[in-house]
Amino acid sequence: MLCFTNEKYQSGEDWEEDPVETSVLPSCIQCQDGALVPLSDFGSQGAPIHYKAWVCTNPDCGFNIKIRNGDVYLNEPISNGATHVPRVR
Ligand SMILES: [Zn+2]
Repeated sequence: MLCFTNEKYQSGEDWEEDPVETSVLPSCIQCQDGALVPLSDFGSQGAPIHYKAWVCTNPDCGFNIKIRNGDVYLNEPISNGATHVPRVR
């Protein structure tokens, strides 16, 4: 049985997402200089994956932590995108 009890909260359009304030971003635990920013991705079905990865804003540091398939990966090498080959389904 379908239930649409949430509809009355979503139809108002007066709620908004909390803006990401840079002041609350955690500082990088590795270089103590940059900040960790949350990055979102999109799944294979186009569904957004919020905060999939956290990456240090210091390019000289490159500390990153991300989750993939339920596993957490720490400090993976950052790809510049040039070598990324889109998977063809
Ligand atoms: Zn860092």
